Amino acid sequence: MHEMSVAQNIIDIVLQHMPEENSHPVQTVTIKIGKMAGLVPESLEFGFQVLTAETPGMEKAVLQMEFTPLVIHCDQCQKNFEIDDPFFICPECNSANVKILSGTELQVTEIELDDSPKEKP
Ligand SMILES: [Zn+2]
Repeated sequence: MHEMSVAQNIIDIVLQHMPEENSHPVQTVTIKIGKMAGLVPESLEFGFQVLTAETPGMEKAVLQMEFTPLVIHCDQCQKNFEIDDPFFICPECNSANVKILSGTELQVTEIELDDSPKEKP
């Protein structure tokens, strides 16, 4: 399952960002996931839960997903469009001369620790 290795990647990223003497468990991990990232959110969440259950400090971590829309740019009319379906045709001029600007990314955006001191800059 592809989602399993993606979930592992997310966990690796989280662990890399942990301070060395961190004693607070991870509460929430927020990721940005593009509509076109090619991942099944349910499978990703499942994989994340299975893997975090065996990862010290992450046993209770919750995966929060923010979906980013698919945005294309039309070379013909030089406009950007947010589209729901991956047809890759400009909704305005029907040109197929479009490129994807966003919607394929997968990014860890926030890691929240339980009981962490409230030190916001
Ligand atoms: Zn166009």
